[in-house]
Parts: sequence; C-alpha cells; structure tokens
Amino acid sequence: MVSRVIPVDPFDLVIFGATGDLARRKILPGLYRRFCDGQMPPEARIIGAARTEQDSAAFAAQVAEAVETFLPPGKRDAEGLRAFQERLSYVAVDATGEAGWTELKEAMRDDVVQAFYFSVAPSLFGALAERLHKFGIARSDARIVVEKPFGRDLKSARELNATLAAHFDETQIYRIDHYLGKETVQNLMAVRFGNTLFEPLWNAQYVDHVQITVAEEVGVGGRGAYYDRSGAMRDMVQNPLMQLLCLTAMEPPAHFEPSAVRDEKLKVIRALDPVAPEHIVRGQYRGGADPSYLEDVENDESLTESFIAMKLHIANWRWNGTPFYLRTGKRMKARKSEIVVHFKKTPHSIFDADAGSRSNVLSIRLQPDEGIDLRVTIKEPGPGGMRLIDVPLDMSFADALGPEAADVPDAYERLIMDVIRGNQTLFMRGDEVEAAWAWTDPIIQDWQRRADRPVPYAAGGTGPEEAAILMHRDDRRWREI
Ligand code: NAP
Repeated sequence: MVSRVIPVDPFDLVIFGATGDLARRKILPGLYRRFCDGQMPPEARIIGAARTEQDSAAFAAQVAEAVETFLPPGKRDAEGLRAFQERLSYVAVDATGEAGWTELKEAMRDDVVQAFYFSVAPSLFGALAERLHKFGIARSDARIVVEKPFGRDLKSARELNATLAAHFDETQIYRIDHYLGKETVQNLMAVRFGNTLFEPLWNAQYVDHVQITVAEEVGVGGRGAYYDRSGAMRDMVQNPLMQLLCLTAMEPPAHFEPSAVRDEKLKVIRALDPVAPEHIVRGQYRGGADPSYLEDVENDESLTESFIAMKLHIANWRWNGTPFYLRTGKRMKARKSEIVVHFKKTPHSIFDADAGSRSNVLSIRLQPDEGIDLRVTIKEPGPGGMRLIDVPLDMSFADALGPEAADVPDAYERLIMDVIRGNQTLFMRGDEVEAAWAWTDPIIQDWQRRADRPVPYAAGGTGPEEAAILMHRDDRRWREI
C-alpha cells in the first residue's frame, strides 16, 4: 500500500514553551516526522519561543537531541534532520514581560498560515494572547493550540475560555487532547458511518453494553504532586474518556465537518444522567515491592483516586437501557486502551443447549497496537458435530494493509497538521469542555462532601475487587486487560 501524504500550506508555527517537556518529547519530534514524510512544504517554518536566552543554532541542536532521544532509530536519519533544522529558528520571549516580542513579530511572515502553540502553563495563556495582539503579531485568521487540562472544574474552565475568547474567535482555538488524534478514533467514525453493517445495530435494541477502558502500566511517579491535585476523574474521565464515549454514542452528523461533529458530541454529554454513587468505584494502587500511590504523591492522607470505574446511562432514544462502563487506572496489569461494543445475544439458539446463545463483540483498540476486531460465531471445524466457537475477524492495520499502514502518524503529528489545515474536527470546542465539567463537578463535589476514601487495589492487577462487583451485579464482566 502506498501512503498518500498531502502537503499542507506554507506556515509559520510558533511554539511557546519550546524548551519544555512536551515540546521536546512530542511536538518537535512529531514535526520532524511530518517533515521527513514530505508533508511540510519548503516554505514551512517553526519558531521556538521561551524565556531561555539562546540563538537559533542552539535551539536546532536541542531539537536534534530531542529527536535522537524520543524517536527510535528507524524513524530518524541524519540528512533529514539537517534539512529539518534549517526550518527552525528561535526567539527568546517572556510571556509576562516585554522582551522579545518585537523580534518575534519581525520573524513572522504575512502571507503564510499562522499558528501559535501554547505549550506552557495555562496561567500564561492570557498573557500570551494579550501580547500577541498588543504587538500586532496575531492576524485575525491566526490559530492557537492549547493543551489540556482545560481547567479543573466548570468555573476555571469558563475563566480559561473567557480569557481566550477575549482575544480569539472560537474558530481560531484548537484545544488538543492527543487521544483524539489516534488513527482508530477516526476509524471508529469510518466504521460507524462508512458501513451499512453497523449503524442499524448501533442502539439499545442490539447493543447490550459498551466498555471503554484506558489502562496504564505506569504510576504517577514523577508528576505525583500535579496528579494528586487532579486524580483519574479530572485527568482521564473528564476529557479523553468522555470524548471516546461521545464518538461512540453520538448520532450521525450530517457532514464530517467540525461544527456538525462537535454539535453531536455535545448532545451526548448533555444527555448523560447524573451517576449514582453506587455506580462509581474509586481506587488507589498499593505498591507491593514498589511505591504505593500514597508514597508516589508523598501524601499519606490523600483521598485522590488513581483508578475509576463507572456505569453511565445516556438518557436518549438511541441508548435508553444500554449501560456504558468506563474504566481507567494507573499501575494496571498492562497498557491498554479500547472501546468495546458488546452486542446482545441471539434471541434464541437453534443449536443444542451446549452451544448456548452467542453475542458479537466489536473492539476498537487505541493502544498498544491500533486496530479493530470483530468476534463472530462459527462452527468449530471438524467432525465433532455442530459445536460453536467465537473467532476474530481481526483487522490490525499491519496485517490487513501492509507494514506501512501500521506506521501511522503519531497522534500529535496528525493533530498539528490538522491545525495547519484549519480542521477543528478532532479538537474540543469550548462548550463541550464546559458541558463535560458541568457533568463532572457534582460527582467530585459529592466525594469531597463525604470525604470519600478510594479503595485499595494491587499494582499490576486489574483494579479493585469492587470494580469487578460493579459488573457482576449486572451479570457482566470486564474485558481482560
Ligand atoms: P514544562 O516542561 O514546565 O515547560 C514549560 C515551558 O514554558 C518551558 O519551555 C518554559 O521555558 C516556558 N515558560 C515558562 N514560563 C515562561 C514565560 N514566562 N514566558 C515564556 N515561556 C515560559 O511544561 P510541559 O510539561 O512542557 O507542559 C506544557 C503544557 O502542556 C502545560 O500546559 C501542560 O499542562 C501541558 N501538557 C503537558 C504534557 C506533558 O506530557 N508534558 C501532557 C499534556 C499536557 P523557559 O523556562 O525557557 O521560559
């Protein structure tokens, strides 16, 4: 299979926070990969910006070091790197001061796409936006990219949105969550809306339940203090899991274009029922030989959860009666993210009682190996009579489409190119973010009011026993992690 890389228009991309962790690990190596794939036109330029005083050559050396550190050898080459370095320049600016802004204006061109990546703490967004206008740098068609977290509750999200709205129109703002840049997230929409096979069955009449899991092997070590103020609900449920839920449950948009897709996602969030406390399990990992959650965050009294499982109900015609189970945790048995649609059992088995009723399961894997798998029932081959087995109709990209297809762009790479193309479909709109917080806030406030204590679970396992019970009560089971 030949991959089709469509070059984007010439652009100036300014990365504020270019010396920071995210820029080094994801943004700059991702841009380098897009450059090597031929997606950047020769006129594309990337301008690093941060307070650190250094020249463009020092920044280019830093980028080379980041590429070598964070990309595997098969994904980099010396010649490509040298050519990429020629696209780079650097300006020292202080978001809260006056230094560097005139130089930044002089470094920018009038006749190319203009984008500003705010890879800095959200507390600096207002200062950056203000100076981009005060110094006449940002045009009215400039795009800005902001990173999650989008606030920590409804109030702070509204404040953040208001700060951005004071300087930029909503059509200019790209709120990024890298989960939405994954190939399979887009494939979920292709599977649903590009086939006649699934959509007629995609409702409470045929779907028994849906499970969405984002399990991580790592703990919170290294960013414990940040995580302890946040927790799994804010860090994972409020955004990525909620977005995956929306894409799974939304009505077909009239067109695959940003406002149509985002309108439909918003309706799902607004249709969510409040969750009863007995439908939520919060956990904290215990370490065994390794540090426990409490040790990782250096806070013996912490009531923050590193695991959450919950049962949700979407109160609309399509989904009434079909529960959605969400689960996410740190220090789990494996790193695994998937959306799994469990269809209902056949209403009656024409085969003997041993064969039992069967159900189809469609799983959409986001990581580790992106792909889609549909389990169907067939007759077990051989002379043993009519014995039924479930087998996968597996479509891992590598197997089905050739090895290049597995080499899909990293989520960040894809999303940054979408910014340059001006396509907001995979980015969150302000009202979506606020609606998600409006649903999340009462749950968190209830825990705080009751001083709810997370239950322990063993690191390296599948989460607390209580999460398994949440499923058993409904005569269901979690998928293996
Ligand atoms: P970081 O490592 O602390 O980097 C912050 C960057 O901001 C540095 O380049 C710093 O450079 C620059 N900076 C700080 N104060 C500044 C000022 N007054 N003016 C101009 N530049 C300033 O943070 P990060 O981890 O890269 O995170 C950046 C953003 O992405 C945050 O909003 C974070 O929540 C979000 N995020 C990060 C990750 C991740 O994996 N790291 C994941 C998701 C979201 P100087 O010191 O040279 O100024």
